[in-house]
Amino acid sequence: MRLILFVLFISSSLLGAQNNYPQDYFSSPLEVPLILSGTFAELRSNHFHSGLDIKTQQRVGLKVKAIANGYVSRIKISHFGYGKALYITHPNGYTSVYGHLQKFSPEIEAYIKKHQYEKESYQIELFPSSATLPITKDSLIAYSGNSGGSGGPHLHFEIRDKAERPMNPMLFGINVEDNIAPIIKSIYAYPIDANSFVNKSNTKQKLNLIPIENGNYVIKNMEAYGHIGFGVETNDRQDLAANSNGVYNIQTLVNGNKNFEIDFKRFSFDETKHINQLIDYEIYTTKKQRIQKLFKKNNPLSLLKPVLNNGFLNIEDSTYSVYKIRVADYKNNESWVTINIKGTKNSITETIENKETTPYFIKTDQTVNLKKENIAVNFYKDTFYDDFYLDFEVKNDTLTLHKNTIAAKKSFNIAFDISKYNDEDKQKLYIARLIGYNKYPIYSNTKRKGNLLTTNTKILGTYTLATDNTKPTILPINFKNGQWLSKYRYLKIKIDDKDSGISNYRATVNGKWILMEYDYKTKTLTHDFNDGTL
Ligand SMILES: [Zn+2]
Repeated sequence: MRLILFVLFISSSLLGAQNNYPQDYFSSPLEVPLILSGTFAELRSNHFHSGLDIKTQQRVGLKVKAIANGYVSRIKISHFGYGKALYITHPNGYTSVYGHLQKFSPEIEAYIKKHQYEKESYQIELFPSSATLPITKDSLIAYSGNSGGSGGPHLHFEIRDKAERPMNPMLFGINVEDNIAPIIKSIYAYPIDANSFVNKSNTKQKLNLIPIENGNYVIKNMEAYGHIGFGVETNDRQDLAANSNGVYNIQTLVNGNKNFEIDFKRFSFDETKHINQLIDYEIYTTKKQRIQKLFKKNNPLSLLKPVLNNGFLNIEDSTYSVYKIRVADYKNNESWVTINIKGTKNSITETIENKETTPYFIKTDQTVNLKKENIAVNFYKDTFYDDFYLDFEVKNDTLTLHKNTIAAKKSFNIAFDISKYNDEDKQKLYIARLIGYNKYPIYSNTKRKGNLLTTNTKILGTYTLATDNTKPTILPINFKNGQWLSKYRYLKIKIDDKDSGISNYRATVNGKWILMEYDYKTKTLTHDFNDGTL
């Protein structure tokens, strides 16, 4: 017993205070062993994952159970995002969230359908009172599914605190087998200013990572001078699945002193966008690798715990420093990287190439309005993290607005004046972003007001006017024209639209609205005849 206490003390002194959260209050939301395809706060596109993705044996329809007593406090059904989602508020103040569901328990299902038919909408958001749908612990609340923006059957599961901040559900004793330490995939070093160097270069360098025993790593013979920082690409695997998931904690030490920590315990939804400032956005958009920067610059993320110098190092001439990175998963399996840094004020051989300049220097603490020919761009204050030279060009209804290598934390506005087009064409024009080598146009959510087409976006890149001349298509899936459907349970239709996509749909039988559930992944509308509309 004494030995166990000693071990706990050692590990918690490095990890910080561990855990004051209730351990036996919540039970498992599923009856199957918990195997994860996604961990809390793992890095996703433009956000941190706000819960656990629990695998459901590659199928839909597993029983989902309430993890504690409480009441249904929110129901949200949407085409995208969490699809069919249920929120249960518990007497201890926490809320549990269950997403991508297939359907709900009969009582909840009836409650939702009543409101969908009243509102004549599949997409709906409801906030029932505490007396409407009370829930007891371990009772069936729903069936797992693949609805909304889900890439395969699984349960998205969250625990939120009173302030609606998602927390790591593992903190509450939700147990997942894990004896495998995180993997370090790559390490980068960053010279921070014009007078700093890494291996004789003033630009970021990928370092040569050498695996050693016990799953640890070393980087030998690194030379540096001045103000530098590091970045790490890492992920974690658990015992029962091959999925690459997120890690739980990253810490760094300089000559034995802790200087930075990323602690994936809790965050708020309004800060999740700052993931694009945590990762090296340029590498992410060009190579699809997520390098987490181990220093804090213009980033308000609460997951970052700067300890010393915001994670930066100041390397002086003729010195020797040891920098260590510790990456851990929730079960405290850990991997270490040791970097030996020789401080060398070299007679610099590399001439620092002039940073690319343009006439458009964006000061991010100012509003910026740009206009050329028929196209206007408006950046609000604080749209970007850093000041930079923007590439801005207009030619033949096409706007070049830099490249998508710089992250925006706010949307900006692009407006096209279309007065030169005739009235018929005006109705069919939309704003498209051109992507990839082939400059493929994808629809950018376009608003029309008189002779102006506008779009709000966070993505720098090339935008143009495109025309949608093709009507949407409607195809029967499980019946033919003129066929009797009397014995059918479901009516299934495939809807699709080339170019700008489906904006809305409405289905009626004998003039009366019927509920059709839309799955954008299969482009399918489904009506259940058990709704009793016929
Ligand atoms: Zn999820």
